[in-house]
This record gives sequence, C-alpha cells and structure tokens, in this order.
Amino acid sequence: MRQKIVAGNWKMHKNAEETEDLLNDLIDKLPNDVEAHIIVAPTFVNLASAVDHLEFTNIGVAAQNMHQAESGAFTGEISADMLKSIGVGIVILGHSERRAYFHETDALLAEKVNTALKHDMQVIFCFGEELKDRQSENHFTIVENQLRDGLFHLEAKDWESIVLAYEPVWAIGTGETATPEQAQEMHKFIRETITAKYSATLAEEVSILYGGSVKPDNAKEIFSKPDVDGGLIGGAALKASDFAAIVASI
Ligand code: 13P
Repeated sequence: MRQKIVAGNWKMHKNAEETEDLLNDLIDKLPNDVEAHIIVAPTFVNLASAVDHLEFTNIGVAAQNMHQAESGAFTGEISADMLKSIGVGIVILGHSERRAYFHETDALLAEKVNTALKHDMQVIFCFGEELKDRQSENHFTIVENQLRDGLFHLEAKDWESIVLAYEPVWAIGTGETATPEQAQEMHKFIRETITAKYSATLAEEVSILYGGSVKPDNAKEIFSKPDVDGGLIGGAALKASDFAAIVASI
C-alpha cells in the first residue's frame, strides 16, 4: 500500500569493494527512525553481496533491470528467477536510460512487468517525458501513453506490487530538477489517470516517486508535495552522507 520510499539507483557505478564501502557507510549514516522504505540498487554483479551485507538492516535491495523470458539463449541477460534465488525481490523497470540506450519500448516493458509479477517481485516502474515533449507541451500525453502501454493491461490487484517513478528525462543527471510544483502537477495527473482507468482508491494507494537531480538541498521541498511519496535518486545515492540527508528529508 502507499508508503514513503527512497531508492538509490547506482547505475553502472561501484565495483565490488566500492559497493561494500558504500553499504558500510550507509549502514553508519542512514537514520534508523524514518518511516520510509529505503532501497539500494547496485549493479547485477554486486547484488548478492549487497543482500548478504544488508541482511540485518531495513535496507532493501533492487535490481536495475531484468529480462522478460523465464530462461533461455539470451547471452548476457538476467532472469527473474536468478534475482529471486539470491534474495532480490525488487526490480527497477523502464528507466529512461534503458529506454534510450537499449531500445526498451513500452510493449517490452509490459512483458517485463508481467514476468516480475509472476515471480512475486515488486516493480519500480520508471517513465517520464523528454525535454522536447515538455517544450511542445506534450508531457501529459507522453506520460499517459507510457502508463497505458506499460501498465494498464494489469488487473487492479496487480498494482499492489507496483511503485511508480516519474523521472522527467530532462532532469536526470543534468542538475536541473523539476520544480516541486512541476513534480506535484504531474504526480496529481498520474493519480487522475489511474483513477480514470481503475479507481480513486487504487490511485490513492499507489506510491509515486520523483526522480531527477534530487539532492540534499532540494529533497525536502519536493517530498513535501502531497502526491510525491519519495524519490528515486541517482548521483546523490553514490555518497552515503548525501543519500542519508535525502532519506532524512522524507
Ligand atoms: P540523478 O539523480 O543523477 O539525476 O538520476 C536520477 C535517476 O535517473 C534515478 O533513476
């Protein structure tokens, strides 16, 4: 059900040793009296050690991607079963970098979502418009289409396993954050879109995270908006003190 979440997407950063160092640093620095669910997403090769390392903590571990097939001749890919077998029950799907550089479409993502749900995984589903879409005032249409094509085939009960992450592409890694008002406006629109397709109850229950240049100095204001339930953090998740400060802002 709707909960506060702060997740760190480490992208292609941190080798094995650096992963351990950052996890130790996080264990030291993260506040333990926050209500938020805290999640970190290291690279595939460091997931197993992260799960071991965080066993007695309240920090969850997510994968950054996953293949849609159960198994097979897909060189270089990772399945849901493999993730589950090392204790990873959360997966980020649809990140804009996967969409842009690895050509992941909404139709493919719908398949990945289905596979994840079949394996009882929680999905953090990312979506968001590009700069050109916002400039041409198409951002609401783009977001509506991404939700429709990636998720609206699901039954209402499936949404218990879905967390949404609105990440406007123009705000990712650019230092340019959506204003708290822009984030709130889009998150409200997302709930309205879900209400129209499903119900107001479901729309109220889904957690919607904001992602895109969230930093310690802007997190509080973004998180204070009524339809923003937390954040998906990139660059600032790579430094324990910054990530801890962001978590403390929830
Ligand atoms: P930045 O916080 O570095 O902008 O990245 C956001 C992001 O892509 C999280 O998935």
